[in-house]
Amino acid sequence: LAKQNGRNRYHLFDPEHDREVRTRREALGRLERALVNGEFVLHYQPKVDMRSGTLVGAEALIRWQHPERGLVPPGEFLPLLENTDLIVSIDQWVLDQALTDLAAWRTAGIDLTVSINISGRHLQKSDFRANLEAALMAHPEVPPSAVELEILETTAFADIRQVSVVLESCRKLGVSFALDDFGTGYASLGYLKKLPAQTLKIDQSFVRDMLTDSQDLAIVEGIIGLSRAFHRQVIAEGVETEEHGAALLQLGCDLGQGYGIARPMPGSDFPSWFEDYRARPFSTASTPPLGHALSP
Ligand code: C2E
Ligand code: MG
Ligand code: MG
Ligand code: MG
Repeated sequence: LAKQNGRNRYHLFDPEHDREVRTRREALGRLERALVNGEFVLHYQPKVDMRSGTLVGAEALIRWQHPERGLVPPGEFLPLLENTDLIVSIDQWVLDQALTDLAAWRTAGIDLTVSINISGRHLQKSDFRANLEAALMAHPEVPPSAVELEILETTAFADIRQVSVVLESCRKLGVSFALDDFGTGYASLGYLKKLPAQTLKIDQSFVRDMLTDSQDLAIVEGIIGLSRAFHRQVIAEGVETEEHGAALLQLGCDLGQGYGIARPMPGSDFPSWFEDYRARPFSTASTPPLGHALSP
């Protein structure tokens, strides 16, 4: 659009806007080529039962292995794709790659589930279920019950009823759903009632300061309470220390994921990480109870 002020008032051509559009188009082109050239990689972050230390699953997290810039985190390129269909193609690549990796680990005797992030845009595509079914069919050695899809609520769903129908029908394929970054989105509480998602994932922004910020602690407690009332499973992300783990266990949240347990790692590192982990699992046993930090 033409600038509405100053000297550019009557200009229909805005060179600055034009430059922005061009920059964006170039960036999208680079990302499209990155997908074709196989420059995306998946790292995996373990999810554990903090009470027993048992590994329960791993979340697949995309990175861009850039030829010059090195490993680029998703926060630097995914936001650009949010309103494009390239995010759908990337989601599909992730789905296929994660199922390939999961199949290999399960064959090697590591019993776990994989969690895959699905963009809201993809979920609202009419062929989402068909894409998912095709990916599952391509990996018959992976039981669909070992696949969890994390729904990213970055954009409000246009039609929540339609999304809930899609989830319901995907449930029949055997996969399960988690509401990711729960508490940060547009309409989380309403979604909770309407969406057949089995798990709530407490956003790391609430977990990070829960030991010192009583409001964050109240939010964490509230989400755990909601999960109980709605008979959903609950997992905390951003478990950075044993103290976080101990406090979460005390509040009734058994499942955790975070730097204090393990950082995301290349898929090829996962089996050897697991070997070491089995000998020394995550434990909050040496952590004193934090009753004083928790509300009565
Ligand atoms: P998310 O799904 O909420 O993933 C959790 C993010 O928190 C990851 O960042 C992870 O590395 C980070 N994290 C985990 N534990 C800790 C911790 O203890 N402390 C701190 N400070 N951070 C922790 P990452 O890998 O940069 O991913 C960012 C976001 O990008 C994801 O958030 C997800 O929304 C999106 N994303 C990642 N991979 C994919 C993908 O394959 N497809 C789609 N559609 N989105 C993805
Ligand atoms: Mg996630
Ligand atoms: Mg999350
Ligand atoms: Mg997040």
